[in-house]
Parts: sequence; structure tokens; C-alpha cells
Amino acid sequence: MTDRPSATKINQPDRHVRRILERAELEGIELIRFMYADHGGVIRGKASSRSRLAERLGSGIGHTVAMMAMNMLDQLQDVEYMGPVGEVRIVPDPSTFVPLPHAPGAAAMLSDLRNPDGTPWEACARTFLKDAVAALADDGYTLLAAFEPEFTLGRRLPDPTGGYDRLIPLDDSLCYAGTGFDTAHDYAIKLIRALETQGLRVEHYHPELGPGQQELSVRHAPALRAADNHVLYRETVRGVAMRMSMWASLAPKPLADQSGNGAHLHLSLWREEQNLFADDSELRECFIGGLLAHLPALTAITCGSVNSFRRLAPRMWSSAYAVYGPDNREAAVRICSPLGESGEPNLELKPSDSSANPYLSLGAVIHAGLDGIRRKLDPGEAVDVDPDTRPGRYQRLPASLDEALDALEADEVLMEALGPLRRSAYLAVKRSEAAAFAAKDAGYELFHHMRVF
Ligand code: GLU
Ligand code: MG
Repeated sequence: MTDRPSATKINQPDRHVRRILERAELEGIELIRFMYADHGGVIRGKASSRSRLAERLGSGIGHTVAMMAMNMLDQLQDVEYMGPVGEVRIVPDPSTFVPLPHAPGAAAMLSDLRNPDGTPWEACARTFLKDAVAALADDGYTLLAAFEPEFTLGRRLPDPTGGYDRLIPLDDSLCYAGTGFDTAHDYAIKLIRALETQGLRVEHYHPELGPGQQELSVRHAPALRAADNHVLYRETVRGVAMRMSMWASLAPKPLADQSGNGAHLHLSLWREEQNLFADDSELRECFIGGLLAHLPALTAITCGSVNSFRRLAPRMWSSAYAVYGPDNREAAVRICSPLGESGEPNLELKPSDSSANPYLSLGAVIHAGLDGIRRKLDPGEAVDVDPDTRPGRYQRLPASLDEALDALEADEVLMEALGPLRRSAYLAVKRSEAAAFAAKDAGYELFHHMRVF
């Protein structure tokens, strides 16, 4: 391919372009998926053919503004400036090109949504995270993060009578049990190889609590990369399963009576080479203070779906109370004891799952933590018991998406950080999901979440 990138207004550095084009040719890539995450938490995109790639790397692919007003049921919401008129461009980040092992012939690139003149679009979620990272940098900090996702592995069973498809779990192995390693073995090895090939460093794997549940964690990375990694992770978990005629769901609670799937968010704050959460630093306390102060509102973003709130129950290690504590698995914020020599002290935010838009999640978490640092917020006493054993003493997390959205609307810091267009679209999309699922039964909710996430 000899095409040179055309002189569009959105230019990518030539060096990257050449490398991407060479790799695409060498690896027989026919389709390059330009991917983004929307307000419903859904990962969407459009793909360029290899022959058009040189130009599309520069121009992006045209897209309607309306797609950021679409909810997770593909129902378009009325949002000002997101009607039928108006275009954005899905513009790939040249550093993210990666062939997809589970989709031979395809590669992915994580993308921004930009205005046709190349400037960032106010509703781009990836830009929201970049701006949060920049705000943190202004105060002299960088954030490393990792999502620690769980998912349910099985197969999707259509209902012959026309009812909802069901997720039939792979096995009934016990938590961390040897049997579970063997029942899921072929899938786990394929998944690990696929993730490693994409540059995600796998940390640990185990079969977890309840039928078909798996947990596989990846190494932390700078915030933007961590969110990009989580998009690739979600796509790969499901893509590998589909190639094996299986179905994997990262939905927060795909089986109503079983353990939920979290995507706990691990966080550490750095200045140069120093982990600032390394000791009982005042800074760590303030960051926790910020997380707790904004937690009810944060959950509207980090636990972004109706199904998320089925998961946040006591005695499930998912957290149900706005408290923190060292190695407390029932606390919303756990101070994790470091593991081994390369282990880094970090905080773990438990009310976080894979139905969230990871860019909005991490961005909102950064704004909350930064607010805690700037205002020196006191997190109060650490909790070293199960908070559910002290009735009435601790604040419960929101019980529903609507309740969380009320908290978000009342949270000036997060509303201001989101900005007018993004927040009006996010609220419209999420309110519409709350209403749509409230009008139907639980089976409808479980089906749609396991289908989409
Ligand atoms: N499955 C739990 C959740 O919903 C987490 C269990 C664990 O600590 O790994 O968050
Ligand atoms: Mg787990």
C-alpha cells in the first residue's frame, strides 16, 4: 500500500502511520475497528478497510452525534445537539493499534470522538479521562490504575418458546476449586494468550464463587492505558468465548441469585518514581476522603447500569456501604496490603463494574480524589468490621441507578467536571435505562445485560 495520509485537518504522525500500515499488511489485517465507549457503557465502533486505512488514520471515520444519545437498548434519547443533524469523527489513537487474536484478520484501535475540524468533541468520554489526567498532572500527580474484572462463562441458551435467552454457566465448581481450573482450562489459556498478545500483562487467574464465574486480573498502567486495556479486555473475554461457541458476560449480576461480577478499580498515585500511597500518608487519607465524599454520585458512573445495583449487596464482597478499611472486603474503599517486591500499595474501589464506561469511571474517580486532596477531606475512621453488622451506623450506597443519578445531579464537582453536553446526555441515557427496565420484569433486565456486557 503506497497511499500517503491525505492532508486532512486531523493528522497523525507519519512514523506511527507507517508502522501501522506495515503491520496491517504483514499480519493480513483486512478490517481495523475504531472503537469507543458510549454513555450506555457499550463499546461500539466502525471499521476501516486496510486499503482506506492510511487516509482514515488521519481523517477518522464519520459518525452521527446522535450515537452518544443512544442507551444500552439501542433506544435513541432526545438530547440537545445530539439530534439527526451533526457529525463527529471516530479518530483512532495511533499508539493503540493492535491485531485481535480472537478475530483473525481484524485489528482494533481505541479512538476519540472529534469535531470535523479535529478539535475534541465535548461529549468524548476518552477526552474526559485525558482532561482528568491533565488536571491531576497540573497538581503534580500521575495515577496508575487497573480494573480487576470478573465474568461469568457459559453458553447462551435460546428459549424455544420465544422468551429471553438465558446464560447457562459452564460449571458448578466451587470457589478457587481445582475442578474449576480444569473445566475452564481451554478457554482460560486462549484468553490469556489473546490478552498477552495485545500487550495486557496478566497477573492472576482463578475460577471464582458461583457457577461459571472467572476472575482474571491484569497489571496496572497509567490511567488512560488502563481504561483502554479494559475496553480490550471486555472485547477479548467475549470474543474468545464466541470463537469457542460459548458466551461470556461481564454484566454485574447476570444470574440474580449468584455472586456478582465486579471490576474493582485499583488505584495508586505517583509523583515521579514515588508511590504516594506507600505509607499512611495524609495524601492517601485525603484521596480516600474525596472518594467517600463523592461516592453516592460516583456510583452513577462506576456502576453505570440498572443491573449494577443488584450486585451492591452486603456479604457479597462487592461493598454496600460508603466506608473504607485496610483489607476490608466489605468496604467500598479497601486499602490493599502490597504483594511481593513489585507489589504496589494501592486503593481498591469496589463499587465498580464492567457495565460502566471505563473512561468516564476513571475520570470521575480522579476528579473525586483530586477534590479530596485539594480540600484536604477527612475520610473519618477506618472500619475493621463488616459494616453490615452495625445496623444504622454506616451510609448505604445508592440502592438503584435512579438513586445514584439523583446523587450525581446534586454533586457539583462531578457535574462541573462532566460539562454541559456530556452530563445532559449521560443523565438522559441513564434515566431512560432506569425507566425502561422498571417497566419490565427481572428476566428482561438479566437478559439485556448479559447480552450487552
Ligand atoms: N464478586 C465480588 C464483587 O461482586 C468480588 C469478590 C472478590 O473480592 O473477588 O465485587
Ligand atoms: Mg473476585
